[in-house]
Formats: sequence, structure tokens, C-alpha cells
Amino acid sequence: MIPLWRQIQKNNFTKLGPLLDFLEMVPEKRSQVLAHPTFVLNVPFRLAAKMEKNSLQDPLFKQFVPLKEELDTSFGSTEPLQDQTFRRSKKLLQKYRGRALFVTTGACAMNCRFCFRQNFPYETEEKGFQQELAVLALDASISEVILSGGDPLSLSDRELASLFQELDKIPHIRRIRFHTRFPIGIPERIDAAFLEILQNCSKQIVFILHCNHPKELDEEILANLKKIQKLGIPLLNQSVLLKGVNDEEGVLLTLSETLVNAGILPYYLHLHDPVQRTGHFDVPEERGQELVRFLQENLSGYGVPHLVREEPGKPSKTFKG
Ligand SMILES: *Cc1c(COP(=O)(O)O)cnc(C)c1O
Ligand code: SF4
Repeated sequence: MIPLWRQIQKNNFTKLGPLLDFLEMVPEKRSQVLAHPTFVLNVPFRLAAKMEKNSLQDPLFKQFVPLKEELDTSFGSTEPLQDQTFRRSKKLLQKYRGRALFVTTGACAMNCRFCFRQNFPYETEEKGFQQELAVLALDASISEVILSGGDPLSLSDRELASLFQELDKIPHIRRIRFHTRFPIGIPERIDAAFLEILQNCSKQIVFILHCNHPKELDEEILANLKKIQKLGIPLLNQSVLLKGVNDEEGVLLTLSETLVNAGILPYYLHLHDPVQRTGHFDVPEERGQELVRFLQENLSGYGVPHLVREEPGKPSKTFKG
């Protein structure tokens, strides 16, 4: 049987015309939208339904609908993070001590225009993680496995369960961390079958959500995330600082408050990576520091994310505020 979340995913908007019709976009505004972007359109119905009609300014519209600004290739590069040089095997990256990152899949619930992995050469033709598991089993210095992508919740429950079973067999792996944005687009993904996989795992799981704007959250999403928390799994959130989306005091304050009220602790606020075709999202570092200082003055300490930037070759993310 096809799970409900897969059926929902099949109804994502992947063609611009129907999405702009749904958003009742007038012709003058439509002309600013990019018809054939390099990184294809993929927007869950739920997110489209939250977008303000006929608006180019809506924070969700900006994050998921391509604008002609993407044609500007003068900013950044296709591989600002040099991920390829940190490969331990086809789908395993290691940049930092003690933890290795699985690029589990190229698929996501939604395609975010600012994505730093939009040019990643995913090895999607090959299923399974035999090579990666072999590398991990032989390297006792790795105690944490990070499931990333793409989005690890794009994997089927069968694929996830089998990966968890294999990881369970490696004694020096102590923690499994999810980095996912899936629940923002399709919260139905957190269903009984998925919760059972989490519950059956002997390792400590840590769940890191990716949410940039309070409008992405709602009661249903938070209720489903609560089910994960009730299994003793810490929930954190990372955001990317994006011009015109969340580079404003009030927006970041509401985001942090909404998260901490739901028991989700802000983790990182990432300065945007210099990815080609995403220059229109760039926020200067000094503005990021100003915003974080404002959060420090208005929130409990645990409600303030760390302002970080990823700088290739460094032993950790670089803390900027
Ligand atoms: C960001 C990242 C991590 C996680 O870093 P933390 O500071 O532990 O959150 C791990 N591996 C890779 C390759 C990364 O890019
Ligand atoms: S969900 Fe994450 S990996 Fe997928 S497109 Fe968005 S930012 Fe990129």
C-alpha cells in the first residue's frame, strides 16, 4: 500500500502554470517568475495554500517559487562548500571529528530556491548504503551518523528501517541525527510506521528540523513533531538567514518563540552559502550579528540560535555570533 504521505507528495505542484493560477497571480507579476529554472519547481500543496494570493513578497513564495533573479550567475559558485573533497565514499561525507554525514537521497518534500545542495551530483541510481556502512564499521572514531540529503524522510520506511537495523549493529555509533525539512511540507510523513522505526532504535536519536519562517509552522506540524519528542528524542531547529524572508527582527523573534513554545530549541542560524543563482538571498554577516544581538536581548538564552557560516576546510562551522 502506498502511504498517505507519498500520495500527498505526488500532488506537489511541479508545473508553474497551475501554481500561479492557484495563487491568482496577475500577468505583470507572472512576468517576474522564471519559467524554466535549473533547479526544478517542487512545492507541496500545503505550502502553496499558505502563500498569500497574488504576492511576490510572501516569505513562502520567495523560498519556493523561482524568480528571474536566478538567471544572475555572477554571485557564488556551483560548489561553494567543496563537498566533493570530503567524500569518504559515494554517499558519505566527513568534515568534522566524530561525525559523518549520509547523503541519503537527492529527493526532498520541496525544492528550496536557496538550497546549497541544488548542484550536488547525487548517486541516485544506486540504492542501499553498503559502502557507507562498511566505512563506518571500520572507523571507531565516528560516534554519530547524520542523515541528510536531500531529505532523509524521502526514503521509504523500508529503506529507513533497513538502514537503522544496520546502524544498530555498529557498537561505536552512539547517535543518529536527522536533518530534515520534510515535516514543513508534508507533516503526514510522521506516521505510525515512521514513529515505530524511531522507537525500535537502540541509539540516541536527535531530530533537527529546518524551518526559516514562523509561517511554515502550524498546529498539525507541531503536533506531529511532539510525537517524536515524546519518544525522548531532542528536537532542534536550524534556519538559513535569507534576504526578504527572515532578515527582520520581528520574524526571527516570532520564529524562536513559536519553536520554544513547542519545546523545539533553536540550534543554528546559518549565514547563506554563496551558491550560484541565489545571490538575491544573501544577507551581510554584520546584519546577521545585529539580528542575533536583538534575539539575545529579547529571549531566554536557549531561544537564541548560534549564527554560523560554513567555511570549507575548517574543523567546525564558524561561529559568528
Ligand atoms: C554541518 C555538517 C555537520 C554537522 O555539524 P554540527 O556542527 O555538528 O551540527 C556534519 N557533517 C557535515 C559534512 C556538515 O556539513
Ligand atoms: S529541503 Fe533542504 S536539501 Fe531539500 S531543497 Fe530544501 S534546503 Fe535543499
